[in-house]
Amino acid sequence: MWSGVRTASRFLASLQLNRAQTSREIYSLTRHLSPSPPPPSPRISSLPPPLPPMELKEVLDVLEQLAPLSLAEPWDNVGLLVEPSRPRPVATILLTNDLTEAVMDEAEALACDLIVSYHPPLFQPIKRLVQRDWKQRLAVRALEGGIAIFSPHTSWDAVRGGVNDWLVAGLGSGQVCVLSQALTSGPCRYKLEFTVSNTEDLQPIIEQLKKEDSKSTLMHSVNSGETAGLLASVSCSETALPSTVQSLLQHGVASQALTILKTEQPPLPGHGQGRLSVLDRPITVATAVEKVKSHLGLKHVRLALGSGQTLESLVKRVAVCAGSGASVLKGVSSDLHVTGEMSHHEVLDAVARGTSVILSDHSNSERGFLTVFRERLASCLPASVTVAVSLADRDPLEVV
Ligand SMILES: [Zn+2]
Repeated sequence: MWSGVRTASRFLASLQLNRAQTSREIYSLTRHLSPSPPPPSPRISSLPPPLPPMELKEVLDVLEQLAPLSLAEPWDNVGLLVEPSRPRPVATILLTNDLTEAVMDEAEALACDLIVSYHPPLFQPIKRLVQRDWKQRLAVRALEGGIAIFSPHTSWDAVRGGVNDWLVAGLGSGQVCVLSQALTSGPCRYKLEFTVSNTEDLQPIIEQLKKEDSKSTLMHSVNSGETAGLLASVSCSETALPSTVQSLLQHGVASQALTILKTEQPPLPGHGQGRLSVLDRPITVATAVEKVKSHLGLKHVRLALGSGQTLESLVKRVAVCAGSGASVLKGVSSDLHVTGEMSHHEVLDAVARGTSVILSDHSNSERGFLTVFRERLASCLPASVTVAVSLADRDPLEVV
């Protein structure tokens, strides 16, 4: 069993050695990330200038660049969840899939400054911070220990090269597409189309709308229609929609002649929830099981064979969704679904369609990405910042 304190002591000793050995490199990297380092002291000009600390905000900026929080699902609770009142430089970051009390023990032993917990440890609104609730205890421990907590959750799932791309890569190379496409973030907009006799009739309408839409979200265009008059359109924000409609009606636009369209944001290619891969080389179900076990570092997974399938049936199309993937995978036509967990009835539905299902247990389908992300994050931070993956983090379920 891992001894957190002993390992932490060795870890800190090696960290200090590492810091001493690489001070020049740290300085150059830190300068790279901080455009305006403080000038060297004129009185001790023989010493190198002091190292600017890596502030929490700077680390958060890097995390945001690697996976924009705007990619997260609207129901999610991502970003900085716990921010201590005493700001301190970030020297050690601990990555974990879940923030449990065992992981918090580890974070404290490592003198960690920031915990990046993939699942948000605070999700439901809380009305108190007391000791009888384990998640509230964790939040209190973090604040008392001056440890910040950040959660990326579904932004990591959605981002190109994130959790789901990592998961599907375990089945082999293939043509990969996103199952639930992410869209460019931005406010919802509406387009209203109507006809006017001539441009003179349109002008007062536009003037009125401009007065009402103080945030300058109004856009308009005019085209010559096939019928008499001009086809005009205005685009407005969701909040400006009721007043825009009212203004058009007041200016004689017939409600029957008014068409209101809700416009979609442009898609973000490669980003979104779930992945479907058409494998370059089809594999058998048995091989797929072994590949998933190997990729996730597991001795066991659960398999449901699709109706009419055997272990030797070929898998060409494989759909994956890390975590609890039933809603994303529902109705997707593929030979195999790979996810962490699905309910009994959701598995039955897939099997009846001839789709086999591999279940790894929820967090086992996500945790392996932490190691990939550790390298990615460390390469973007100065060497003065150590990024560690939790050793105490594990799925609560195991096969016995
Ligand atoms: Zn999950």
